[in-house]
Amino acid sequence: MQRGFGDCHVTSRAINTGHVILCCSSSMTARCQHVVAALLLTLGGVLSFPVGSEKRDPVSCGYQSCHPTKPGMLNVHLVPHTHDDVGWLKTVDQYFYGDRNDIQHAGVQYILDSVVDQLLKNPDRRFIYVETAFFYRWWKQQSASMQQTVKQLVNEGRLEFVNGGWCMSDEAASHYSAVIDQMTLGLRFLNETFGACGRPRVAWHIDPFGHAREHASLFSQMGYDGFFFGRLDYQDRDSRRSKKEQELLWRASDSLPAPMADLFTAALCCKSDEQQS
Ligand SMILES: [Zn+2]
Repeated sequence: MQRGFGDCHVTSRAINTGHVILCCSSSMTARCQHVVAALLLTLGGVLSFPVGSEKRDPVSCGYQSCHPTKPGMLNVHLVPHTHDDVGWLKTVDQYFYGDRNDIQHAGVQYILDSVVDQLLKNPDRRFIYVETAFFYRWWKQQSASMQQTVKQLVNEGRLEFVNGGWCMSDEAASHYSAVIDQMTLGLRFLNETFGACGRPRVAWHIDPFGHAREHASLFSQMGYDGFFFGRLDYQDRDSRRSKKEQELLWRASDSLPAPMADLFTAALCCKSDEQQS
C-alpha cells in the first residue's frame, strides 16, 4: 500500500512571500525561516472520513492532487508548511495578531493572508497548514467570499491540512484524554467546514521533545495514513541515518492486534536538530 517518496517530483516554484513559514521551536530565529521539504507520501490508503450530506463541486483534493511524476526518477514534492506555536514565547493572541514582536517576530494572521494570496497566483503551488486553533481564528475573520475561495483551494488540494488538532500535542506530560479532546476539537472544525477534503492525512509532530509510542497508536487509530515527526534522539537519528531507516512502520501497541496500531512513520531531521543536540 505504501509507495513511499519515490512517486513525487520537485516543485521548483516555492511560495515566496517571505513570511510564509513560521517555525517556532526553542530558539534561533534564523532557522525559523526555513522551508522544510515536506516529503508527502503517496499512499494508497482508502479514506473513510465522514462526508456528511454536503453537496460539493467535483473535487480533486487528496493524493490525486499531487503533480504528475516522472517515471524512472526520484520525484520529490517540496511543500512549505507552518509551525505556528499555539502559545510559546508569546500568548496565543499575541502570536495571532502579531503583537509584541519585540519578543518574537510572529503574526500568524498575516501568514494565512499571504499564503492564500500566493496560492491564488499560481495553481501549481501547495501549502500545508497545521494548527487549527489559529486557522479557526483566521477563518472567523474572513468574508463569505474569501471563505468560498479558501474552500475551493482546499477542494483542489492546493491548501491542505496536516495534523489538524487544535494544537500540536505535547507527548511527554499530556494525558491521553486531553490529546483526544484537542484533536477532536480541531478535526471536528475541519470536517464541519471543509468535509472530506479538510481531512488531514498525516499526523505532523515536528516539535515535541521526544515521541511516545502511545501517541503513534492514537494517531493510527484516528485513521491517519502516516506520521511525520522531528526531534528524535540524536543517537537514534545518527543510527537511522547510517542504516537508512528513517522511514519505518511503527507497531505502536503490544496489546492491539496488528495492523490496528501500525503507522507509517518518517523521522524528519533537519538543521535545527543538529543545532540543538
Ligand atoms: Zn514549536
